[in-house]
Amino acid sequence: MNDVPGFAAVAPGGLKAPPPLLEVEQLTVHFTLAKKSFLTQRPASVLQAVSDVSFVLAPGETLALVGESGCGKTTLARALVGLYPPTGGGIRFKGAEVTTMSTAEKKRVRCEIQMIFQDPYESLNPRLPVSDVITEPLRIHGLGTRRERAERARELIAQVGLPVDALNRYPHQFSGGQRQRIAIARALGPKPALMVSDEPLSALDVSIQSQILNLLADLREREHLSLLFISHDLAVVHHLADRIAVMYLGRIVEIGPRTDLYATPSHPYSQALIEAIPRIGQGRRSRGRVIRGDLPSPLAPPPGCAFHPRCPKAQDICRSEAPVLAAAPGRPLQFAACHFKD
Ligand code: SF4
Repeated sequence: MNDVPGFAAVAPGGLKAPPPLLEVEQLTVHFTLAKKSFLTQRPASVLQAVSDVSFVLAPGETLALVGESGCGKTTLARALVGLYPPTGGGIRFKGAEVTTMSTAEKKRVRCEIQMIFQDPYESLNPRLPVSDVITEPLRIHGLGTRRERAERARELIAQVGLPVDALNRYPHQFSGGQRQRIAIARALGPKPALMVSDEPLSALDVSIQSQILNLLADLREREHLSLLFISHDLAVVHHLADRIAVMYLGRIVEIGPRTDLYATPSHPYSQALIEAIPRIGQGRRSRGRVIRGDLPSPLAPPPGCAFHPRCPKAQDICRSEAPVLAAAPGRPLQFAACHFKD
């Protein structure tokens, strides 16, 4: 696992690094939309949502996964919680390979990996009172008696900052921010070790977003959670993430410590995303580059470096040879997939 970007057997300072909680190795999730036709000679149509993604997550660490809409972030998150079967690669949780586990073992692991979805309007069952919404995962996993589950629901609703009488109401009686708090309470119920948050702020008003962000940061400390936080917005993850992974067209193109990636991004795509972050009094950074064109289709990714049709630094080699994720010069913990990384 020492080859996996971001994994260091020895932590900075010479201490032995704790074993990772989650190890994702060359994870691939492709969807065959149409099979090859031998009659018409039409080739198979394969949507390459996630390709060869590798990273590790330490206990208590927050990794932000950032990229444009359609880059494969959500597919990756769903594969991690078992909603999509991987086409290739591996997922190890606490050292055990998840993809080859029995159904019973997978169910136990899923109890420890909970997910918060993007849209709190759709992720909560409108027919259940909040008490049942929150205790449903506990019931499904056979955790606690009915009385213990009810007690846990009271604890959880207080933990996310809602009054206890919220338990008797229905999801539609709450605002978007309050619903996301309920979704967080539900995810915390089984005491997970890892929380996967898929754009948890994107359906909320800007004024509410910082409250939910602060709540997640608090809970992460209090519950010793690892967090995989997915966002299309680098500015949002700035205060939360320990490390950042930038995804483009199904692949991680850069991964590294947050401070290094913000200060000295190595990949032209990360550079453009960071330069596009609005600064107070500046609008966009004056030297900011606009990424030209649209994200290519994952049905037919460009050859070589998939970013080359939009990259201001593209050379001939970029059109034919795919760059591998490798450490940036002088920065052993920061990896980028570019032939000309800074
Ligand atoms: Fe740009 Fe080439 Fe680097 Fe790809 S490999 S990001 S096209 S310079």
